[in-house]
Amino acid sequence: MSMFCFQCEQTGGGIACSRSVGVCGKTSETANLQDKLTEELVGLALASEGKLLDRAAIKVVVDGLFVTVTNVNFDPDSVSSYIEAAQAEKEKLGGQGNGGFTMTGLAEGNEDIRSLKSLLLFGMRGMAAYAHHAAEFGKFDVMVDAFFLKGLAALAQVNEADELLGLVMELGNTNLTCMGMLDGANTGAYGDPAPASVTCDIEPGPFIVVSGHDLHDLELLLEQTQGKGVNVYTHSEMLPAHAYAGLNKYPQLKGNFGTAWQNQKVEFDNIPAPILFTTNCLMPPQPSYADRVYTTSVVSFPGLVHIGDGKDFTPLIEQALELGGYAETKHMTGINGGSTLTTGFARGTVLSVAGTVIDAVKAGAIKHFFLVGGCDGAKPGRNYFTDFVKQTPQDTVVLTLACGKYRFNDLNIGEIGGLPRLMDMGQCNDAYSAIMVAVALAEAFECSVNELPLTIVCSWYEQKAVCILLTLLALGIKNIYLGPSLPAFVSPNILNVLVDQFALTPISTPEADLAKILA
Ligand code: SF4
Repeated sequence: MSMFCFQCEQTGGGIACSRSVGVCGKTSETANLQDKLTEELVGLALASEGKLLDRAAIKVVVDGLFVTVTNVNFDPDSVSSYIEAAQAEKEKLGGQGNGGFTMTGLAEGNEDIRSLKSLLLFGMRGMAAYAHHAAEFGKFDVMVDAFFLKGLAALAQVNEADELLGLVMELGNTNLTCMGMLDGANTGAYGDPAPASVTCDIEPGPFIVVSGHDLHDLELLLEQTQGKGVNVYTHSEMLPAHAYAGLNKYPQLKGNFGTAWQNQKVEFDNIPAPILFTTNCLMPPQPSYADRVYTTSVVSFPGLVHIGDGKDFTPLIEQALELGGYAETKHMTGINGGSTLTTGFARGTVLSVAGTVIDAVKAGAIKHFFLVGGCDGAKPGRNYFTDFVKQTPQDTVVLTLACGKYRFNDLNIGEIGGLPRLMDMGQCNDAYSAIMVAVALAEAFECSVNELPLTIVCSWYEQKAVCILLTLLALGIKNIYLGPSLPAFVSPNILNVLVDQFALTPISTPEADLAKILA
């Protein structure tokens, strides 16, 4: 059975995954079911026109989009259950068919229209992740909900490039609202992040590793492990949890396990502990640890134990106690050999020292800000981001966020004016925080964000990076450097539009790009 999927950066041959298994390990059966799910969501959106959807129906739309994000759900049975839910909601609305929309038709159509519709669809998949996390806290926004339906319906109804480009920009603006909603949910529940130093050492004794982005799931796990003699370690995008008072108050939240998500097959090899995946990025597990990987929420993989909506983590706790953890402290390091990571430099922290920062810029002590962030991946070319940060001059500040930071977040690149030169602002959705800081600095300097001494260097991998990039473009932010390669779904004509209108620039070498930026 064949498939066609080109939604992520590692897509086969830089063109598309089209064989029986994608580069990520997704089978063609699952990929084709995800296409069917997307078609049903389009049908549901078409059936919803002029009607109000209840929260349950919106959840079907949001989770149905999130399920199709790279490294989230590999399980045909699980994806089929989301298809059934979408069909049931569509039928409740009296809907029939999908307006003639098929993913095959999209793949085979005009390449510029395909490109714009892919930006729209993949961006909505990314935004759905953030809407899902906010909904876990009971937060939603009717404008965000409405856009999902509008955007999905447009996949079937709109075939004009200008109109689709307008929708893509509208998605970017809507995603800012969505990320702001999630920022409010996280900070409302756990307080503003504060700088935290996080060890890479694993203490002796039973422990659980928790990966993904869902802070609410982490909180539930921390509540259930209280007094059980089981420590909890964050992994990958869960690292910023250490910065929240509402989460780091749990003494069993000890540190961070491992490095970037794409190293999990090596780092989880024979691990004496269970691992919980709350969201992406899950890779097909190796036999040496497959019996201790658990999924929850929209994440699923055939044969792994799935923790259902009741969020009863007892099976993990019991397995952690049974496995017993390491006998002695296990010293682990970041990719560059560092043993401590820092996080928590979100908008509250950075803006609390805005006066110092502004004075330092005016005095010439800080010459430039870089925001080097985005998602990580396995390609060797991603060393660019490590080398770029290493080569930034001492009178510059490097802000970072998302899992791309694992390329360099264990480096000590020094201080500037009493502040660390490298500041981790949080998860990918904390791009909201970075945007708020940029806007505040622009106001303080009475200029536009584009006139600030600020350059965004973005690493992309999956669909959340797509929606964040669209947000930055919709805000009019120019001269973004993007790598390690350009999306396969962006056609030459659409790329020209992005280059002409936004000066979007493919990365080259750290030396050449730094020279150009600082010239
Ligand atoms: Fe290939 Fe990426 Fe699609 Fe997986 S998600 S099948 S790696 S394009």
